[in-house]
Amino acid sequence: METAWQQVRRALEAEGWNLDAFERPLSWPFEPRPLTVGRVRGTLFGVAIGDALGAPVEGRPGSRRAAAPVRRLLPHHERPAGTVTDDTQLTLAVASSLLERGTLDPEDLVRRFLRTGPELVGAGWATRQALERLGRGAAWWLAGSASAGNGAAMRAAPVGLFFESPDAIRRAAFLQALVTHRDPTAVASSIVHALWVGWLARGGPADAGALAWAVAAVDGLERPLATRHRKRRSVTLAGLLREVGGFQGRPQEAFEHFRTGAFVLESLPSAAAVFLSHPEEPEAVFLTLVNAGGDTDTMAALAGAWLGAYLGDRKLRSRTPSEWWQVSAAAEIERISRLGVA
Ligand SMILES: [Mg+2]
Repeated sequence: METAWQQVRRALEAEGWNLDAFERPLSWPFEPRPLTVGRVRGTLFGVAIGDALGAPVEGRPGSRRAAAPVRRLLPHHERPAGTVTDDTQLTLAVASSLLERGTLDPEDLVRRFLRTGPELVGAGWATRQALERLGRGAAWWLAGSASAGNGAAMRAAPVGLFFESPDAIRRAAFLQALVTHRDPTAVASSIVHALWVGWLARGGPADAGALAWAVAAVDGLERPLATRHRKRRSVTLAGLLREVGGFQGRPQEAFEHFRTGAFVLESLPSAAAVFLSHPEEPEAVFLTLVNAGGDTDTMAALAGAWLGAYLGDRKLRSRTPSEWWQVSAAAEIERISRLGVA
């Protein structure tokens, strides 16, 4: 990973990317607990459950306008209830690559993404276009789309589990994002998500402090973007994530403020506001997010990773309907549940 990182770093800096934050070493600001299989399994099942619950209503309006809120797994995309989509499929591709290669190997990741490509359910345009370029032989560090979609963040959780040091998580999350999203905000979102998963899985508290720490790790990386809901104001993911703490316990206001679309500036802060509101109540977090409207499966998959990393699989299981665990990826998750465990 180090060789790939040094090469890419020089090339991107020559293009004007600000990677100064990577000069400052990162360490956990608490005594980290060893990773357990339960936390890994919890994280991966959390992704799959959120994804499968949210997928049937992706892109629909929120529950206040919908006739019946979602409460259980439903069929979607002409597939049976519990079928996972791109969020889980690509998360498991990243996890399998880490487990087999023993590091973040961008070339191996590309091979796996291309193999999974034809089977992906509901992949976003940025990922699809990058896969097309990669399939035609484009270099992995050049193929990514210039998109701040949430496709890079949604599959980053395994990076936070696999690597022990926050510095390594940050570099690996950068590289895994770049393969499909050549965009500083998308890269920042992958890093923040992976660091937060790593923090929670190692016993860090589920509070806004974790988010502030992860945001500081990408300081200066982003260039401000105009968002569709605040056209006159340029924002960064880091700036929006600093506002999340103010929306704890007020999910509908968070959804109105941040919005819930596939733009990572919308879905990541909205998911974070709901998770931080009830980190001990996974059923409430999942149901609030899958009924929020917009990119429901990815928001619930992001929060699912945090819930599972924080609670571990036993608590997550005891506090959610058992029917939710009938996800199509269950056997594969069991197979890779030793990811990063010593
Ligand atoms: Mg999806």
